Amino acid sequence: MIEILNPTQLGRARRTGALVGHILQTLKLRSAVGVNLLDIDRWAREMILDAGAVSCYVDYAPSFGRGPFGHYICTAVNDAVLHGLPHDYSLADGDLLTLDLAVTLDGIAADSAISFIVGEARPAESVAMIDATERALAAGIAAARPGARIGDLSHAIGTVLAEAGYPINTEFGGHGIGTTMHQDPHVSNTGRAGRGFKLRPGLLLALEPWIMVDTDELVTDDDGWTLRSATGCRTAHSEHTIAITPGGAEILTRV
Ligand code: MG
Ligand code: MG
Repeated sequence: MIEILNPTQLGRARRTGALVGHILQTLKLRSAVGVNLLDIDRWAREMILDAGAVSCYVDYAPSFGRGPFGHYICTAVNDAVLHGLPHDYSLADGDLLTLDLAVTLDGIAADSAISFIVGEARPAESVAMIDATERALAAGIAAARPGARIGDLSHAIGTVLAEAGYPINTEFGGHGIGTTMHQDPHVSNTGRAGRGFKLRPGLLLALEPWIMVDTDELVTDDDGWTLRSATGCRTAHSEHTIAITPGGAEILTRV
């Protein structure tokens, strides 16, 4: 099912998006060397509950996971990239941390992810990867407007990632979002322009380019959730929820 939001729902989506963006930026500022991933999860929980919002993750139990997720945010360090299960780990200087957060507020969900480097170190390879996912996300957003097709967004995202030299995994990508976190249409991180669902005002999409330095293969961690690069290489992930409006795409999760 592809959901088209009415203006009242779109107003709610803006509030949810602003909350998700605010929580992620707050957690980024707090993610210093020595901070534990379980602290980040606890802070996320507090901010979600204080805002009267509902976590999309805590009870999330898809077919590929091992029972309910049981945490409030995804924390993925270095070779971990998607569905990172918070665990007892203290951040080190130069770690590449991805935080991915989705909540529902007044019945509308928003979903966003940021990757950044902890501490003072700036490993060049990690800086370049994060930059590539952010540029790919910007290109996907720039291609999103009424009348454009999903394939146009996939093509724009995939072109940036490929030109930067990264392999592209097509198992996990962006998605429709609205009254629930994951909806149709799927938005692959590569694809052919001119194909797929035609965008129209009221459609919400979560676009989320993610990459691994030297592989497109994932392995599942023993925790049953965290997806890591098959080679142990570093990874990065950038995600925004956008709304299609008559004038183009509006980024809902930007602070
Ligand atoms: Mg997400
Ligand atoms: Mg998502």
